[in-house]
Amino acid sequence: MSVRRVLVVGGGIGGLSAAVALRRVGVEVDLIEKDAEWSVYGVGIIQPGNALRALDRLGLAEDCVVQGHPIVGMRRWSADGTTVLGETDFPPAVPGLPPNNGITRRRLHDILVAAADSAGAHVRTGVSATAVEQDSEGAHVGFSDGQHHSYDLVVGADGLYSRLREQIFGDDVKAKFTGQVAWRINLPRIPGLDRLWMYRGARGSAGFVPLAHDLMYMLTIEKVPDGAPVRLPREGLASEYRNRLAEYGGAVAEHRELVRDDAEVVYRPVENILLPAPWHRGRVLLIGDAAHGTSPHCGQGGAQAIEDGVVLAEEVATGLPIEQVLDGFMNRRFDRCKAIVEGSERIGSWEQDHTLDIDPDAVAYEVAVAAMAPL
Ligand SMILES: Cc1cc2nc3c(=O)[nH]c(=O)nc-3n(C[C@H](O)[C@H](O)[C@H](O)COP(=O)(O)OP(=O)(O)OC[C@H]3O[C@@H](n4cnc5c(N)ncnc54)[C@H](O)[C@@H]3O)c2cc1C
Repeated sequence: MSVRRVLVVGGGIGGLSAAVALRRVGVEVDLIEKDAEWSVYGVGIIQPGNALRALDRLGLAEDCVVQGHPIVGMRRWSADGTTVLGETDFPPAVPGLPPNNGITRRRLHDILVAAADSAGAHVRTGVSATAVEQDSEGAHVGFSDGQHHSYDLVVGADGLYSRLREQIFGDDVKAKFTGQVAWRINLPRIPGLDRLWMYRGARGSAGFVPLAHDLMYMLTIEKVPDGAPVRLPREGLASEYRNRLAEYGGAVAEHRELVRDDAEVVYRPVENILLPAPWHRGRVLLIGDAAHGTSPHCGQGGAQAIEDGVVLAEEVATGLPIEQVLDGFMNRRFDRCKAIVEGSERIGSWEQDHTLDIDPDAVAYEVAVAAMAPL
């Protein structure tokens, strides 16, 4: 094989999935994660059918389902919670598994870390890459812990604000603010909640996602109110989140009253990025949010990061020269990720301006179809 030794930079969903997938095809893998604590924020994630399909190829889908909660479809409500606007059932993606799954980020992280460990990836935390030099022999990397090693391929999975992207591709293409912000908090699950409930508001949407038999998260994606700052201090987040939920009725209004602890609220501006193809220069390839970070409207960012790892390992396993491996990866990944980033952005644009000629349900459907196309 042309790719026998790989460095993965970043131990998030994409980096860990790539490490597991590459180990499964016999590649030696070092993974570095800059955060010594390897902290994961405490909310949850939707795993759409294509995420379960990719995790199934890694042998991890069942673990996620056991530790998560099935999501069988979606119910859309008016903002005041008095009218059900529509209800859909999601089609099954993997026989024997639910169509979608909700899981806490911590549990998903633990599943991926255990899989990377048992597959034999060498993981170092609290470490970053300080220098990357390339020649015909390989990529030669210096690390913040003083080590130096050479690799056939360096995989940058260091997220939306990728340092490796800046080092290798320059800073012309950066994550951009979409105009919306996301609020999330974990709460006790509404009894019987087994599908996404989404409430359509004037400036965005709010909703619930089941995560475990006793847990769900409430999320809100909204346009920043006129005159309000985008960045907010941690102190006061709970009361600010309650204020932002004022337009909603029904179950959102009931659960709004449970938002009391600033430390439990996860708030962040929504940003996205689509790095033009190709996502590789020489022996450095970017995957996950570093290359194609999407707004969360279709629940696809983590799913695409997992798919990247699976597809990369399949291309490496062909044994073709590295240039063809990387071209094969791009051929399978670019259009799909582009459709997801751009489709999600269009839904967000419509949420911010309902006069735009965009049908958000039709776009969401198109994105779901693109995501479920064969890998
Ligand atoms: C509000 C919101 C809701 C979302 N909901 C969903 C959802 O329901 N379903 C879904 O599939 N996706 C969802 N996503 C998207 C998903 O979270 C991301 O797409 C996914 O986490 C990307 O994984 P990644 O591994 O590429 O990057 P990250 O998760 O950002 O991981 C990057 C890792 O690299 C490390 N790192 C950074 N710099 C360095 C460095 N220099 N050296 C070493 N390590 C470094 C970081 O510490 C981190 O551990 C959502 C995103 C948001 C913002």
